[in-house]
Amino acid sequence: MNPEIYDIAIIGAGPAGVTLARLLDPRFRVLLVDRRNLHEDEPRFRKACGGLVAPDAQAMLATLGLGLPQSVLVGPQLFVVRTLDLASGLERAYQRFYFNIDRERFDRWLASLVPESLERRYSAQVVDLRAEKGVHRLVVKDVNGMHEIHARVVVGADGARSKVRALSLCTWTSPPKEYLAVQEWFHADTPPPWFSVVFDPGLTDFYAWTIPKGNAVLLGAALPPGADALARFHALKGKLVDRGFRFGRFLRREAHPILRPRLLTRPPMTPENVILIGEAGGFISPSSAEGFSYAFSSAMIAAAVLNAGLEAAAPRFTIAASGLRWQLRMKNLKAPFMYRPFLRRMIMETGIRHLEMKQP
Ligand SMILES: Cc1cc2nc3c(=O)[nH]c(=O)nc-3n(C[C@H](O)[C@H](O)[C@H](O)COP(=O)(O)OP(=O)(O)OC[C@H]3O[C@@H](n4cnc5c(N)ncnc54)[C@H](O)[C@@H]3O)c2cc1C
Repeated sequence: MNPEIYDIAIIGAGPAGVTLARLLDPRFRVLLVDRRNLHEDEPRFRKACGGLVAPDAQAMLATLGLGLPQSVLVGPQLFVVRTLDLASGLERAYQRFYFNIDRERFDRWLASLVPESLERRYSAQVVDLRAEKGVHRLVVKDVNGMHEIHARVVVGADGARSKVRALSLCTWTSPPKEYLAVQEWFHADTPPPWFSVVFDPGLTDFYAWTIPKGNAVLLGAALPPGADALARFHALKGKLVDRGFRFGRFLRREAHPILRPRLLTRPPMTPENVILIGEAGGFISPSSAEGFSYAFSSAMIAAAVLNAGLEAAAPRFTIAASGLRWQLRMKNLKAPFMYRPFLRRMIMETGIRHLEMKQP
């Protein structure tokens, strides 16, 4: 049997992939592939995530003409970031506005917005990709075995450890730094109504967090990957317990790589007609690890490029996304004020914008 030929194959139905799928012109024959089954209730793969929709992502949702349905929200909604610097012992609270969501429900809601007419293969994983005579040959594995698919353009929207990026042998000058984000969930009858951000340069040069989620609190940390990541995580938890944090019954642990673009990270050099969007393309904030707004905006840029035509889509995407890459660089320039211990301490000591919280 001849393999099916698509104009565009989108690999990954996370926020970036489904947004692109939703915005593509119906004149294209498009296939959306994800190893998760976004139709079923119990997913086989659950993406580890803090599930906070930050103001930049709220603005992107508004641009996309979307509002969050109640079904994806999880209490409590959060208005404050409690910031702790474990090295100096300083603690401050800053007013911020986040929507607190259930990440899996959020992804399923976004996936439900993709037009019915668009073809999708869920519970299907891309395992091989080769370019042959101007067409990309993809091998997709599902419960029925291996299937070959041909596509003129392949879009890697498959997250931090993108298989599309790896298989198409993209070269990347000054690639983003990779961390291992570990999260543990704990039962809490009344979780504290704040998002905590914790800095401990002894354990990581990025940050750790606690987030209330329904009847649970999750503790997460972006750590240098390596055999000692879990030991670092436990050390962090011990320090927080010493600072008065309470973690109830252990519910589950999850881990996922997370990318952090550097100041000099250049766009990955992709083969002709392979585009990388969302975290696969390094579109994620290097200062806060906020990824939703960048997933949405890189998908919107890709949609505009592809809707204008499929020829030389990759170089046109690189040019079209240069403004977004500059936004990431601006975040890199802001990062030292958060991540250089001396500068952070200086800012926290001023007490500027600190919100006095009455704790029961
Ligand atoms: C622990 C943690 C906490 C985070 N918290 C937040 C937060 O609170 N707010 C925020 O804005 N950002 C957060 N982020 C970042 C955010 O999750 C990502 O930047 C965002 O999900 C990127 O969207 P994406 O669509 O590019 O990729 P993803 O959401 O990673 O989606 C990739 C999709 O590709 C699929 N896939 C992967 N490989 C294959 C394959 N070979 N074949 C088929 N399908 C494949 C996956 O199943 C997945 O559905 C967090 C990240 C981590 C790790």
